[in-house]
Amino acid sequence: MSADALTPEEWAAACRQGDRRAASRLISLLESPDTALAARVSQAVCSFPLPRQTIGITGPPGAGKSTLVDYTVSLYRARNEKVAVLAIDPSSPFTGGALLGDRIRMSSLRNDSGVFIRSMGSRGASGGIAFAASDTLRVLAAAGYGVVFIETVGAGQAETEIITLADTVCVVQVPGLGDDVQLMKMGMLEIADVFVVNKGDKPEAEELKVQLELALLNATPESGRALRQLGNEFAASFTGERWVPPVVLLSALNRRNGDEFQQACDRHRDFLRQPGLSVAMDRNRAMRELIWRSGLRLRERLSEALAPGGIHADLVDEYQRGGLSAEQAMTRVMEGPPPCL
Ligand code: GDP
Repeated sequence: MSADALTPEEWAAACRQGDRRAASRLISLLESPDTALAARVSQAVCSFPLPRQTIGITGPPGAGKSTLVDYTVSLYRARNEKVAVLAIDPSSPFTGGALLGDRIRMSSLRNDSGVFIRSMGSRGASGGIAFAASDTLRVLAAAGYGVVFIETVGAGQAETEIITLADTVCVVQVPGLGDDVQLMKMGMLEIADVFVVNKGDKPEAEELKVQLELALLNATPESGRALRQLGNEFAASFTGERWVPPVVLLSALNRRNGDEFQQACDRHRDFLRQPGLSVAMDRNRAMRELIWRSGLRLRERLSEALAPGGIHADLVDEYQRGGLSAEQAMTRVMEGPPPCL
């Protein structure tokens, strides 16, 4: 039987048995431009559980994210855990040109059947990763990859993806790329559960760690900006306990201090898994994902409806002529007939 003779449901069943090829095939189908097919696959895997631990790695290009993932994955392998790596390729000219091939230099891991490496575009047919990623996580978990790294560059849309998908968001910083002001500007303080100061072999790294710790110390919840990561705020409202992101100094290249990083990720996972909190966290995550995905889908539909010839094109014309306020136009769009809302 040729590969394509299997139905999505049959692939899903094979995946549950730990079949790596089935996992790979399902992920390709989830990314298919044939949206009806992708939807069928999504349905076939929706009851699969999510991975036990999903760790997002973000930070500016050149910070050493790929090197760090390579190093950390080997630590998990030493514990005999199966690990998957999803490298999100931003496909954007604005992100410093992190090319797909560049991002995966994990030659030592490539031939290890306990490691699954996959790149996904963050754009493309029907929203790209937004529509495939969480189902991809389910596929990976079903195939036995309980720990998943999601690696992305810290830029724009990728942030939304990583906050929504990862349980633990790790922000990688390095000395020499800019000062703490740049850090703030990138909003990194707000999304990090764990900070990594990489290139700890460089003399200025220790100073950056101290700066980061000071910035975190000064960032009280009342100041309203830092420590605002959605999941953490939510957790705090349940437990009364606030997670303060640790700052881990390491050298990915020299393979130093990865254990501390791994322990920080595990501690954060345990924090999220506290009794009474984990069910609420899972629901919160599902809600955020649906808001995110529905928002993208609605945007597509709105664009169609308001384009010339679309079912609400007249509202645009009327608004443009000044015959309607923006509020009135929006109300009519939202209260109007499908396909809008
Ligand atoms: P990415 O773009 O964030 O994925 O960064 P890479 O992992 O590709 O690393 C960028 C460069 O930094 C490469 O030349 C790495 O060898 C180097 N690098 C990574 N980690 C370290 C480290 O701990 N110390 C030093 N000195 N260089 C590192």
